Amino acid sequence: MTTQRYEPIDSGVTPRFAGHSTFMRLPVLTDPRDVDIAIVGVPWDGGTTNRPGPRHGPRQVREMSSLIKRVHSVTKISPYEICRVADLGDAPVNPIDLNRSLEDIRKFFSQIVEAGAVPLAIGGDHLSSLPILRAVAAARPVGMIHFDAHSDTVDSYFGGLKFTHGTPFRRAIEEGLLDPKRVVQIGIRGSTYSADERDWPLQQGIRIISIEEFEEMGIDAVIREARRVAGDAPTYISFDIDALDPVFAPGTGTPEFAGLTSREVNRLLRGLRNLNLVGADVVEVSPPFDPSGGTALAAANIAFEILCLLAESLAKRKS
Ligand code: MN
Ligand code: MN
Repeated sequence: MTTQRYEPIDSGVTPRFAGHSTFMRLPVLTDPRDVDIAIVGVPWDGGTTNRPGPRHGPRQVREMSSLIKRVHSVTKISPYEICRVADLGDAPVNPIDLNRSLEDIRKFFSQIVEAGAVPLAIGGDHLSSLPILRAVAAARPVGMIHFDAHSDTVDSYFGGLKFTHGTPFRRAIEEGLLDPKRVVQIGIRGSTYSADERDWPLQQGIRIISIEEFEEMGIDAVIREARRVAGDAPTYISFDIDALDPVFAPGTGTPEFAGLTSREVNRLLRGLRNLNLVGADVVEVSPPFDPSGGTALAAANIAFEILCLLAESLAKRKS
């Protein structure tokens, strides 16, 4: 175990387009005891029900994250000055064995959590969140601030299949990983499989802020509501890139019309400082549908915003 902090490669020495591609140009480490925050790729889309591709997400997000500099534009915080942060590589996955992947991903994240580090995962499809939550919430249920066009609380697909990227949070609630009364979903919209699709999550006590309600409330009220629901207890952030409008994030498997803008996302995330954060993910970037790289750029920036939130939250807990 080291107390050393890690900095992104100095772009004044090695230009941004040179060197190995890692998250935020950080060093690649293998021992989670050496970090406070572990950025991890989950190159897996075994839960995808429609257009595939997020298995390629981590590589393209690593690539686009080379554009991001060290210091947050508004808070002036450098997460690397207050926490030990590194790229811990990719979780092991198996593209043709869903159950084995779920278990291997869980084990990888359990090692991180047991080492006392906080994971920031880059997916991967949204089923990736389930094994991560099994690791992060092993000791007690957590709350969640969930950005998505979809609630991802469907019971099953294709004749009873329980594990898809449309079901992770139903399973997480059934398994006691999430406290549904401390879950808020922001940006939910679009057509559904059935008229009663939202009944189950609402019955569990999840707070759903649809895009229509978001418009009526305004961003500041949405931030207040998200903070109220999450409270002071351990909270996870899950960001499905399809929360963004397809104009800003076309490179995803299940785009939904009329979503959040990039600026709204920045304002929302910047309203979530100093919560009790224990992990996060950014998922559903599908490079085959993202030839410009703009969706991966959005994901990289969202990951940096969340990294700053995690670092501040962690530094506060440790002080
Ligand atoms: Mn979605
Ligand atoms: Mn999702």
